[in-house]
Amino acid sequence: MEKRKQPHMWNPWHGCHKTSPGCQNCYVYLQDKGFDKDSSIVQKSISNFNLPLRKTRQKEYSLQAGSLIHTCFTSDFFLEEADKWRLDAWEIIKKRNDLNFIIPTKRIHRFLECIPSDWGKGYDNVAIAVSCENQLYADKRLPFFLELPIKHKIVFVAPILEEVHLEKFLATKKLEKICVAGESYDNARLCDFDWVLNLYEQCKKYNTAFEFYQTGSNFKKDGKIFKISHFKEFAQAKKAGLDFEPKKQTD
Ligand code: SF4
Repeated sequence: MEKRKQPHMWNPWHGCHKTSPGCQNCYVYLQDKGFDKDSSIVQKSISNFNLPLRKTRQKEYSLQAGSLIHTCFTSDFFLEEADKWRLDAWEIIKKRNDLNFIIPTKRIHRFLECIPSDWGKGYDNVAIAVSCENQLYADKRLPFFLELPIKHKIVFVAPILEEVHLEKFLATKKLEKICVAGESYDNARLCDFDWVLNLYEQCKKYNTAFEFYQTGSNFKKDGKIFKISHFKEFAQAKKAGLDFEPKKQTD
């Protein structure tokens, strides 16, 4: 993928259903609650569906080439209810092949029935990020994910709920990056820095990119538990200085 610029959010539909332990305190449900909105109703976004195609008065795309587009972060791209809208979304993704789309999912098992006919080995500008919040779901979702035709495969260990071992998956060299985060807001479950460090070491060993992007609101480090405001979670995670890109292989 090309060098990334500031990420943008594109939510072509909104709403979701809880499907595994990582969903327990889903931020979509939390935020919708404040507006008395039912998050389990999945709706196409009227105002944002065509966001990547929007143009300025000068007839240039509003989203600049090379931008990273966080796609469908208030739903799941592979939900059944979205089957009727997804092909149009793929068309937009194909048309904007100058943008880099990252699509997170907990429904990777639906992937093959949700791709367009010309998908082939995958679109160059699409990364699929599978969520694996604990060992059970890493072991359930990743073996299938690893065999899929996808050009860029990412794992979100988020919200991290326990120590997770990905060595056997990293050893395949099919994973491009591991991203780790703790859970946010009032009822957040604990994020233990030792779990994060452990994954960092695993990625180092297998020369795979690593990012720790959010501490979570209940962060344990050196035996102490820190309550971290959501707005500081990103900066606090970055202070750990764990992010790295893999060394280029010479052989
Ligand atoms: S899959 Fe994601 S968006 Fe859907 S309920 Fe779970 S955490 Fe929320």
